[in-house]
Amino acid sequence: MSNHQSPFQHPNEEVQASSPDSLTIARKQEVVQILKQVSERILKNDIVSLGMVRNLRIVDDYIYLRLYIGSHQHQLEAEIQTVLSSLTWSKKTYIQLCTIPKVRTTLAVSSGKGGVGKSTTAVNLAVALQLTGAKVGLLDADVYGPNVPQMLGLDKSEVKVIDTPNGQRFVPLEAHGIKVMSVGLLAEADHPLAWRGPVLHKIITQFIHQVEWGELDYLLIDLPPGTGDAQITIVQESPICGVILVTTPQNVAISDVRRSIYMFRQVGVPVIGIIENMSYFIGNGGEQIPIFGSGGGQKLVEELNAPLLGQIPIDPLICNGGDIGEPLTLADPSSKASKVFVQIAGALNVTFSSSV
Ligand code: ADP
Repeated sequence: MSNHQSPFQHPNEEVQASSPDSLTIARKQEVVQILKQVSERILKNDIVSLGMVRNLRIVDDYIYLRLYIGSHQHQLEAEIQTVLSSLTWSKKTYIQLCTIPKVRTTLAVSSGKGGVGKSTTAVNLAVALQLTGAKVGLLDADVYGPNVPQMLGLDKSEVKVIDTPNGQRFVPLEAHGIKVMSVGLLAEADHPLAWRGPVLHKIITQFIHQVEWGELDYLLIDLPPGTGDAQITIVQESPICGVILVTTPQNVAISDVRRSIYMFRQVGVPVIGIIENMSYFIGNGGEQIPIFGSGGGQKLVEELNAPLLGQIPIDPLICNGGDIGEPLTLADPSSKASKVFVQIAGALNVTFSSSV
């Protein structure tokens, strides 16, 4: 590689010593156009639009890129090499594979602000996916309020570390058949996690890459709310193939979601859709009462061109499920909220055509 040292800089360290010349810019555009010819068969879209190619760099006659894929998509590497071999000026393409071993589809659950039911959604969606027969993992990366362990009755559990041929790994806990790992399990009870900057970055990357998940159809990552450093680090460091945004119908929650969508689009990760939580209350006669207003989710769908995956009603039993460690989707599968979660899980299965 002669003078091509360290081509795969960390995204945060990406410092351009000098601005790229016009030839490099033209070559980069040419490479992007060619990469757009490579299609992911299940998702029926090209790998650039799917956010799988990141950190594309042209250095002299060499191409460097990071490829973020699931465990079932390794053939894309060879396909990229083949299409790029048509470039007469390129001496070689270096591809750095970014994948979580044995994990097929990684999805993030995010929200513009706290308290809208993001973790509740992540937990119930994980259960719903598991009920469809999928193998599911849930990574609670909400460094500001990691409450997934409590929602699954795991808050008193200790995380084990094992030695593997690839180094030390965290062993995920298991609840209701779901593999669970949470930043909250590393903190003392009732102590806020005061991680910032490099420490936060290190902990987050450890959580993404040093957990022995085993075979998973889905890994859901419960992101911290908002659009700060922690979110961007997680999204950039992991093979997330899409983000599910949770919102409530209120206007303020919606403007936060709008900001989140722009952030994800800027870092090139597709937004799969929006879940509107606490959409309505079901009255005694079965009527839907929109306590927090209505139409918010729909407004976002139209404005931002992201589908509405489902509308979850307000259900007091959801709180109860969170408190006793048994998610509503398990405790009361016949409730309307549970049915919506199962319906969303079914739609995700259709999209990602998991092995289930
Ligand atoms: P976030 O992760 O966005 O901060 P949580 O999932 O912790 O939000 O939910 C905040 C609170 O709202 C919790 O007490 C939870 O039980 C409650 N909650 C969430 N969704 C619903 C719902 N659909 N109906 C009733 N309560 C809900």
